[in-house]
Amino acid sequence: MNLKEPPPDSVVLPSYEAVSTDKGKFNAAFRLWHREADNPAGKTVAQPHGDRWIVHYPPPEPLSPEELDRVYDLPYARRAHPDYKEKIPALETVRFSITSHRGCLGSCTFCSLSAHQGRIIQWRSRRSMLAEAARITRLEGFRGHITDIGGPTANMYGATCAKMANGRVCPDRECTWPQPCPRLRLAAKEELAVLESVRTLPGVKKVSIGTGIRFDLLDDQPSLHYLEQLCRYYVSGQLRIAPEHVSPRVLLAMHKSSHASYMTFRRRFAETNRRLGKKQYLIPYFISGHPGATVDDALELAEYLVRTERLFIRQVQQFTPLPMTAAAAAWHTGKDPLTDRPMYIPRDPKEMKLQRSLLQLQEPNNYIYAQRALLKLGRHDLLRRLQSLKPLLRPERPGRASA
Ligand code: SF4
Repeated sequence: MNLKEPPPDSVVLPSYEAVSTDKGKFNAAFRLWHREADNPAGKTVAQPHGDRWIVHYPPPEPLSPEELDRVYDLPYARRAHPDYKEKIPALETVRFSITSHRGCLGSCTFCSLSAHQGRIIQWRSRRSMLAEAARITRLEGFRGHITDIGGPTANMYGATCAKMANGRVCPDRECTWPQPCPRLRLAAKEELAVLESVRTLPGVKKVSIGTGIRFDLLDDQPSLHYLEQLCRYYVSGQLRIAPEHVSPRVLLAMHKSSHASYMTFRRRFAETNRRLGKKQYLIPYFISGHPGATVDDALELAEYLVRTERLFIRQVQQFTPLPMTAAAAAWHTGKDPLTDRPMYIPRDPKEMKLQRSLLQLQEPNNYIYAQRALLKLGRHDLLRRLQSLKPLLRPERPGRASA
């Protein structure tokens, strides 16, 4: 903006010129922006760039269910633009799915979702989703399976607190970390009611939750009923979850819940499926090379995958610094931008490859690469631990966790 002054009452960040050359100022700017970014009551943030200002206004007030319904009730074609002649794989996966809400109140440091959809959950009414499901049943090619009803995280549907109900969030506290906030109220009953209404709609044979769930919000007693319903009706053999790592140091850097919380959920999921006589699996996602993760941490995760899970994962997400995330700021500056504490950053491509190889040791080339790399690093302690995993590696085993 060609402003001579920043807008009144705005938070002024260190200038572009300052943050480009001074990493301390870069993190200071991130902290100031982050405090206001996902709060409709936040202040306008302004940064001088040469003789102009970049101005970031607070997010709009969240939409009420009635307002969001109006957006989703529009007569969308649910098809690619006619200019596309070829099939679009990404469209196929969402063609028969329903968005139940927007926003994410998690605060994973590597994810930009709360920066662009906001922390406040905005959800649709059951009526609107049922109407959409009925429209889906009339679509060409629909065979009775609604492949997903969810949002960024399915079990955040309807989640709120007194503050969020007024369109505000706490600027100095995260909603799910280090522990879920005691003031946060989930809406499992309402979510299950939506799922059941759609599942019993004429023309619908199956409804799945394809987007995954946040397991750390499910470790109390009342959540057992939700989990039972999930396993009974809404898991299509596999349920996606995102523990992301097992090392406490890395989980701390990611602002993810503890490994113990994942293990509790894993046990409950297995017990529930056993009771229901179902063979269903968890598909856990893990990230390699996240800021804060050392080779020792990667080996700890490898040991967990091979010894405990007996899981050989086919897909590993290599950490990618996403703009406007705390992890990207840490990756750039070498310090946690929220605490200013120094943080280990695995930037060397060889180390990134080593960390990734350790998570997929069932690939023979990865095992050999990891062995050589550890030898080169002189990490005989880690090498011995790696070699002790070798007898447990069987490449032909399926790439999924046992229930
Ligand atoms: S009170 Fe708790 S749930 Fe509500 S905005 Fe604050 S931290 Fe999040």
